[in-house]
Amino acid sequence: MALPTVAIVGRPNVGKSTIFNRVVGERVSIVEDEPGVTRDRIYGTGEWLTNRFHVIDTGGIDISDAPFLDEIRQQAEIAIEEADVIIFIVNGREGVTSADEEVAKILFRSKKPVVLAVNKVDNPEMRADIYEFYSLGFGEPYPISGSHGLGLGDMLDEVVHKFPESKGEPYEEDVVKFSLIGRPNVGKSSLVNALLGEERVIVSPVAGTTRDAIDSVYRYDGQDYVIIDTAGMRKKGKVYEKTEKYSVLRALKAIERSDVVLVVLDGEEGIREQDKRIAGYAHDAGRAIIIVVNKWDAVEKDDKTMRKFEQEIRDQFQFLDYAPIVFLSAKTRQRLGTLLPAIHMVSENHSMRVQSSILNEVILDAVSMNPAPSDKGRKLKVYYATQVAVKPPTFVVFVNDPELMHFSYERFLQNTIRQAFTFEGTPLKIIARKRK
Ligand code: GDP
Ligand code: GDP
Repeated sequence: MALPTVAIVGRPNVGKSTIFNRVVGERVSIVEDEPGVTRDRIYGTGEWLTNRFHVIDTGGIDISDAPFLDEIRQQAEIAIEEADVIIFIVNGREGVTSADEEVAKILFRSKKPVVLAVNKVDNPEMRADIYEFYSLGFGEPYPISGSHGLGLGDMLDEVVHKFPESKGEPYEEDVVKFSLIGRPNVGKSSLVNALLGEERVIVSPVAGTTRDAIDSVYRYDGQDYVIIDTAGMRKKGKVYEKTEKYSVLRALKAIERSDVVLVVLDGEEGIREQDKRIAGYAHDAGRAIIIVVNKWDAVEKDDKTMRKFEQEIRDQFQFLDYAPIVFLSAKTRQRLGTLLPAIHMVSENHSMRVQSSILNEVILDAVSMNPAPSDKGRKLKVYYATQVAVKPPTFVVFVNDPELMHFSYERFLQNTIRQAFTFEGTPLKIIARKRK
């Protein structure tokens, strides 16, 4: 189920990132620039009362070279596009500025729910000064102090009060939901268009689709599929849509709702740092993954090119050793037909259950052939394993002491399971638990 999203907007220095950090605490996805340089935290998860929600600090999405007003305008547009509720922050020490009025105009037109927060109201005497902010047209302003943590509770009460009813997934359990993620310009929208234009794909109305018009639902070979966030991939030409941070934001949201994630690479350009980061989010989220090398038509090839590219992917994406690789071209449609069968295959594996009796035979055999090394004189003993979940397949292994289960042995057990069963395309989770 998709969580509601809250976006924080306002001009520079009003305290957006201070409030963001207060609201999400430590539960943040770190969207880094170059490692070790700046660390912008723009996307996280917050909690208030019984509500969990995503938070976006739009101030962290820098639109390169945009003049000041353009930049905050675009940040406001991102908020409108992405959020269910917007927190509009102004500075209580400066009063209403023309930039505030500019942002207010854009937000007002969108009709999205807005909570107006007047920041830097660090003491009660200053509360008298907040009334001029009524003029922005969003009703009662909430006085807060980000640096002192004051007033945030009342503000968040109002935010969760404005959440939409419920955002449950409109699709049946057996519908395969997938998304395409990747840097700007790798060819995601071209691929979506090519897929939806396939002759054997029948776009069919499935109950619930009208509730979320940005997904594309279709039937192929007797199976229903949904492309999550089609709108985000078939872009409408806004400037910010080509920025990397925005692409990460879209990716995170799409991953959340998907069973299968296609990590799209640009075969012509090769692998970039950003590709690994984006793929890492899909892996961490436990989704089934296919690596798609697009633009293969534009690559000058001999008989070793594909093998070499494949090896480079394996070297660079070691954590994705389970993901199949598909080379194709959205432009010429070359090998496009292999994509849907691959999606079908990995989604089956992602939701596969194995029988406990066979699982145990396999695990206990492997353990007796290859016992865990001892750790300070103590030895891990494996008694029993059972699959407790799917999507991704998750196994609980009962042992004498979970502390003795080291990463390398867990890896060994994973490989054992992979060799015995067909889990291609899906991460596996192993949880060591003490046998009672
Ligand atoms: P952003 O550019 O909107 O993200 O603003 P920041 O969160 O980076 O804050 C800008 C400056 O305002 C920083 O120096 C903060 O320490 C300061 N600031 C943020 N919140 C408050 C507050 O509640 N009271 C005061 N006095 N200063 C604050
Ligand atoms: P997105 O930003 O990832 O959605 O990428 P687009 O679909 O907008 O594609 C970016 C550019 O790559 C466009 O100029 C496309 O025409 C081009 N492109 C996309 N797919 C292919 C392909 O398979 N081969 C070639 N040669 N170019 C492609």
